[in-house]
Amino acid sequence: MDGSRSPHETLAAAEPSFAPILDANRGPVDMRPVRRWENDVFAANVRSWLASPDAPAEAPAAYAFACECGGRGCSAQVELTLADYESTSQVIATEHGPRDWAWPLGSVGTVRIPWP
Ligand SMILES: [Zn+2]
Repeated sequence: MDGSRSPHETLAAAEPSFAPILDANRGPVDMRPVRRWENDVFAANVRSWLASPDAPAEAPAAYAFACECGGRGCSAQVELTLADYESTSQVIATEHGPRDWAWPLGSVGTVRIPWP
């Protein structure tokens, strides 16, 4: 920390010392509730917009909701009407919904999720 190393060199020198601590605290992250929250907020915003004077005379029939498969890096979207969204407990893109789906979780291996 005397300025003789670049930030990258300092990080490279310090990182091995903290790796065991960082690895111990790195568990699997379940993104499904996060995506559900994102979709709930989006649906509430759309409902507010549709109820406002700014709503167009002919509103879109469907809206793009986030896939709730929980896969890391999943950015798939599913087109649903608000009614369809409100009647489903989980939004899953067709390509992300096999019955027994697995995804890699880096250093902790693979998690398999039994599909209902
Ligand atoms: Zn997905």
